[in-house]
Amino acid sequence: MSLVSTKAIKTSIIQLIGNTPLLQLVNLEKQLGLQAEIVAKLEYFNPANSIKDRVAASMIEQAEKNGDLTKEHTIVETTSGNTGIGLAAIAAAKGYKLKVYIQDNVSEERTKVIKAYGAEVIPFSEVPELAAVAEEIDGDFVAAINIFKKEVVDKQENVVFLNQLNNQGNPQVHFDTTGPEIWRDTDGQVDIVIASVGTGGTISGIGGFLKEKNPNIQIIAVEPGLNSIASIEEPEIPEITGVHRFSDIEDERVPDNVNRSVIDEVISVETEQANQYARLVARLDGILVGTSSGGILSAAIEVAKRSENEGKRIVVILPDTGLRYLSTDLFN
Ligand code: PMP
Repeated sequence: MSLVSTKAIKTSIIQLIGNTPLLQLVNLEKQLGLQAEIVAKLEYFNPANSIKDRVAASMIEQAEKNGDLTKEHTIVETTSGNTGIGLAAIAAAKGYKLKVYIQDNVSEERTKVIKAYGAEVIPFSEVPELAAVAEEIDGDFVAAINIFKKEVVDKQENVVFLNQLNNQGNPQVHFDTTGPEIWRDTDGQVDIVIASVGTGGTISGIGGFLKEKNPNIQIIAVEPGLNSIASIEEPEIPEITGVHRFSDIEDERVPDNVNRSVIDEVISVETEQANQYARLVARLDGILVGTSSGGILSAAIEVAKRSENEGKRIVVILPDTGLRYLSTDLFN
């Protein structure tokens, strides 16, 4: 007996990335009496369970194509978790070494997952060069990356720093895949898209694609509220992982991958509010998502309640799984 080969059987996790499902949150709509549709794009269906699998694959394949990345190199990246996890899974499958430098507020399960894929995890606090400049880094995401490059990357040989903050492969993969999937799976019937902003890749790529298809589609960004930003003085403030404030920040502190020209509105959400909606949607519609997803849902509900949005379809991009937050306050 011989089996006929079938495309249904994939040969790399890269083939499992994307084409994530859309789910209308009908119970949430009903419970809150919403007159607009809220449709969630569930990025936890990616093979390493977050939207960053797309970005990780895109950046690695781009570096391979350019000849910048070979098996002699070690990939290095600094990330709040999901990019590290996506890179770790893909690096494992492709046989690359990976070192992930993480900020100290990253949840324990993220660190464990990265290690489980065989990558090395280095907390910022264990890098003396970074500890020495902690005050310069404080709250300044872009400065942190520049200092990381100078103090950590440039002092090592045979490393490839992918740098999701200004790597064009980051927004490009959302322009090429996430955006087109939304357009295809809604038959172009989409009025509003809401996404959070960390590196800006998601919103810039999706927004860029959809605005070309239909400039009337509104793109709304979610950022942390003023009371949800930790600092050296107030490190105990809970933050929304991976999401950064950008609306009232000087340009040089905003990542290059944030394309403000495709963003119609910015909504601020505090962490506690974000957590409440992540809990609510788990109980009502049975989807377990993280804090940033809760923040996006909070913004979506605010937008859905506006009278001018009655009957409209709001697509929300939910970046990751709630399983990545079990050690945090989210589900306590
Ligand atoms: N939510 C989570 C949980 C994330 O990890 C990230 C990325 N760091 C984002 C939102 C923001 O996505 P982007 O970097 O594409 O702006």
